[in-house]
Amino acid sequence: MTEEIVATDAYARETEATVVESGDEGVVLDRTVFYARGGGQPGDTGSLRWDGGEARVTDTVRRGGRLLHVVDGEPPPAAAVVAAAIDWERRYILMRTHTALHALSGVIWRDYDAKVTGGNMDVGTARMDFELDEMSGEFGREVEGKLNAALAEDRPVHVRFLPRAEALADPDLIRTKVNLIPESVDPIRVIDIEGIDRQADGGTHVRSTGEVGRVAVTKTESKGRAFKRIRISLDEA
Ligand SMILES: [Zn+2]
Repeated sequence: MTEEIVATDAYARETEATVVESGDEGVVLDRTVFYARGGGQPGDTGSLRWDGGEARVTDTVRRGGRLLHVVDGEPPPAAAVVAAAIDWERRYILMRTHTALHALSGVIWRDYDAKVTGGNMDVGTARMDFELDEMSGEFGREVEGKLNAALAEDRPVHVRFLPRAEALADPDLIRTKVNLIPESVDPIRVIDIEGIDRQADGGTHVRSTGEVGRVAVTKTESKGRAFKRIRISLDEA
């Protein structure tokens, strides 16, 4: 088991760790600041440095219950002590993107009663699908205004660990299908954007919505009945 520092501290950029396993599939560490791909968020990239070597981490994935740092080139040997560092600028944009997506889902639920059916993100861009009947460019501009107003309120973003029974009784978490989380998961990690959105989530988020900055709705698409897609992008300026 790898101690996953990001579960409680998304701002940790580097840690010293010991190699538990090293092979063709990747490197397992006893602890890490790398986020393993999941929940629509890409895996972290970065570097492992040890006495006598260095390797690029090109992806971080979960496979067979292990958290694997996928490396380019020669991996560190088992039992080596490494400095594991993520590409912080990339990750920070992913944190802003992820929080923006949750805020979007909260705004669409609050103002249009529509549930999320899917989503995915890249560095600075994301898409989310909703059970909406109508979609238009005008609707997209309206959503963009509401989303930016909500983000500008600089709401705190809390990471909470709720006992499973409590999470299963929470209306916001029921709406976001908390019941689909495997029964063995207890407590359940919840991301709570104060007053905007609350959902079970394993991803990394910024501390407050002010850090997200402004967001643009770049595209609105109708993929079918009750299947509408909104694409967003962070304003870098
Ligand atoms: Zn999420």
